[in-house]
Amino acid sequence: MRLVLVGAGHAHLHLLARAGTLRSSGLDVTLVAPATFDYSGLASGVLSGALASSAARIDVSKLAERQGVTHLPTRIELVDLAGRTVVTADGEAVPFDLLSFNVGSTVSDPAGLAAASEVWPVKPLSRLFELQSQLGASLNAGARTPAIVVVGGGQTGFEIAAALAGLCARHGRMADVTVVSRGRARWAPPAALADLTQGLARRGVRVIEGEAVARDAGLCRLADGRSLPCDMLILAGGLVAPPLIKGLGLPTDEAGRLRVTPSLHAPDDPDVFAAGDCAVIEGAARPPAGVFGVRAAPILAANLIARARGAPLRAYDPQRRWLSIMDLGDGTGLALRGGLWWRGRTALWLKRRLDLGFVAKARSLRPDA
Ligand SMILES: Cc1cc2nc3c(=O)[nH]c(=O)nc-3n(C[C@H](O)[C@H](O)[C@H](O)COP(=O)(O)OP(=O)(O)OC[C@H]3O[C@@H](n4cnc5c(N)ncnc54)[C@H](O)[C@@H]3O)c2cc1C
Repeated sequence: MRLVLVGAGHAHLHLLARAGTLRSSGLDVTLVAPATFDYSGLASGVLSGALASSAARIDVSKLAERQGVTHLPTRIELVDLAGRTVVTADGEAVPFDLLSFNVGSTVSDPAGLAAASEVWPVKPLSRLFELQSQLGASLNAGARTPAIVVVGGGQTGFEIAAALAGLCARHGRMADVTVVSRGRARWAPPAALADLTQGLARRGVRVIEGEAVARDAGLCRLADGRSLPCDMLILAGGLVAPPLIKGLGLPTDEAGRLRVTPSLHAPDDPDVFAAGDCAVIEGAARPPAGVFGVRAAPILAANLIARARGAPLRAYDPQRRWLSIMDLGDGTGLALRGGLWWRGRTALWLKRRLDLGFVAKARSLRPDA
């Protein structure tokens, strides 16, 4: 059976590690994904200037070659489910019997802000790395500290604001960052948010409630008529599935994520699988986070093999609590798990250990058969 993997996200990196097993189960595997993968756990460390962008980058082409997997270093632009074919950005049609998506997410932009100049979406992460180079170079050259507006008061918006404050501090500057949050932030215990917000205020980051609706020269306009000085606008207003998923014509949720059964396939098409940010498991929706792609991966591998053999599939029950650690760009981290939290240097130490460990493990994959 021809298995086409679309995207080299967390789950499909695991499938590369199992390439030998997939092959010996009768699956002919083709991966269609950009040549490199940027690991989000280290993105804020790159943005703050603590890490080089190379620390977060995994060479997908090299891994696929080592694992004996056919790799097309491009993106899928179109899926013809009826014709059982995917079409790459280069126009190549690739037939499949089994299809699996792990294409991550893109930034929600209901006001269409991304089209304006000096607007930086937090995905793809390569854009954040460009932002770091550009901003770092201009601060180095002695330019005025820019007024930056971060649109989005979720965990990502706060983490990006903290990283920008860290980057400014590395250049001996106080940041000028405003986080615009639609309503009061509620993604962490109130005491953790208060501690975080106070710490950020001391570093030049303020948080306001509002809704950014337009970007004009030097300004960010809010729905209530206020406008903020804005040299750069960072879009961090929530993650949604890439339009490719909606284009499948299969049921999706309000964030455009493909609805899948606990066995990770579309209910109406048992040969179409998905994992990670681009999928939502019926009855077990979770927010976008790398951990779910990682934990789904062994079940995905087992179920693709089971499907090829006509055997029963396994179910994935995503955890209800998970550890997430934010890099605050000042040598400390904020760790959150359920209602528990702690902030300090050990939290960042643990984050680095986990994230650098993930990248090192992925880079050192060896053929499994
Ligand atoms: C700034 C930032 C920091 C974050 N930090 C963390 C963190 O510390 N911990 C955490 O758990 N989560 C974090 N997240 C969330 C995290 O990025 C996602 O939840 C996670 O990456 C999703 O993993 P995934 O495997 O679904 O897809 P991804 O890791 O996004 O991988 C998807 C891959 O598919 C490829 N792709 C996309 N479209 C196509 C296509 N059409 N054809 C072929 N390939 C395609 C992409 O190039 C990418 O390589 C962060 C997000 C942001 C924006």
